Amino acid sequence: MKKISILGSTGSIGTQTLDIVRANDDLDVVAIAAGSNIDLLEEQIEEFAPKLVCVYKEEAAAQLAERVQNKPVKVVSGMDGLIEAATIEEAEIVVTAFVGMIGIRPTLEAIEAGKDIALANKETLVTAGHLVMPKAREKGVKILPVDSEHSAIFQCLQGNSMNKINKILLTASGGPFRGWTREQMKDIQVEDALKHPNWSMGRKITIDSSTMVNKGLEVIEAKWLFGVGLEDIQVVVQPQSLIHSMVQYEDGGIMAQLGTPDMKLPIQYALYYPERKYLAGDRVDFDKIASINFETPDLNNFRGLALAYEAARNSDKNHGDSMPTVFNAANEKAVQLFLDKKISYLNITDIIEYCMKQHKPIDNPSVEQILEIEQWVYDTIASKWAI
Ligand code: NDP
Repeated sequence: MKKISILGSTGSIGTQTLDIVRANDDLDVVAIAAGSNIDLLEEQIEEFAPKLVCVYKEEAAAQLAERVQNKPVKVVSGMDGLIEAATIEEAEIVVTAFVGMIGIRPTLEAIEAGKDIALANKETLVTAGHLVMPKAREKGVKILPVDSEHSAIFQCLQGNSMNKINKILLTASGGPFRGWTREQMKDIQVEDALKHPNWSMGRKITIDSSTMVNKGLEVIEAKWLFGVGLEDIQVVVQPQSLIHSMVQYEDGGIMAQLGTPDMKLPIQYALYYPERKYLAGDRVDFDKIASINFETPDLNNFRGLALAYEAARNSDKNHGDSMPTVFNAANEKAVQLFLDKKISYLNITDIIEYCMKQHKPIDNPSVEQILEIEQWVYDTIASKWAI
């Protein structure tokens, strides 16, 4: 029986992880955590009987505790509670599926406690990759990618540990506004940006995919996960989302991973690695695929990707600086403001660019410094945009 803790159990990745648990009787959920969705947490407690549940918001945690008082489950709250769920003794593997930088401390604590990590929460690696990866090496824990592109790369690396990577080819769908100019993007509304052509995901990552900030975050994530330089990562737009990513080796040979757009495959692969198990769902039907197209990403109209490269350029394999934190935190806040209809679509990248211009990077920031910079970004946005 493999015991797992799911951080972000009520979200898109979290609920799909639970679908996998439902389909396999050798997985046991020992802890779950979320922000405030106690209705769904209550259902999950009923179905999966975890020992520990964390609701980040204290008031909501108190309400949930009252509702489940007759069940053998401990309800905790706040950052201490998230860390308790991340480090619970029984868990062998922790699925990090929080959205945003809230995942940094629980992920680091889970690694410190020797847990393998099935990592979906890319914001943690983007901002604290220089702390996460060395700690994982020190503790001998595996960081197993859940992001579909990174899982694809990871799958392409299997059996090739002796071979040097020449280049990572990170694929991108291009999102719903592929081919648009900034002029055309001026009036994009929340509802338009929430319609991804191929993937069904949480709200924040869906907006990030539409701006291509998500691809920028993924470039930085790939750099940390696979220990390659930025110049060795090429983004390739492949609008059908059939190829999930590729690795080119020194002899020019390219390994690719293909499949239908279904996050359950990378989640299950991370949970059972290195084993491949049966997974119900659609299969690629090559008789129905008319063509696969490739395009170069448009860095002029999709500023998010260009800014991500700029943010990441001063870091290497073991060394990071604070600019990716600014890039990420500014995006998190800007996306929230856009979803709340307080700013326009193009303001998202305007805000990121402004914050990056105001910031003087510091080397190898600690967790405390990263969180201080996050707050500085929020204050900077509030004063400049009066929101
Ligand atoms: P969702 O928005 O669907 O879910 C986010 C989860 O995080 C929810 O469980 C939410 O709880 C929880 N959460 C939010 N704020 C807090 C908080 N302060 N404390 C504790 N829990 C919190 O996001 P996704 O599942 O789409 O994405 C999760 C991560 O996975 C992101 O980093 C994303 O980039 C990455 N990812 C997602 C993919 C996808 O297909 N969805 C694909 C690849 C990567 P509550 O419901 O209570 O608010």
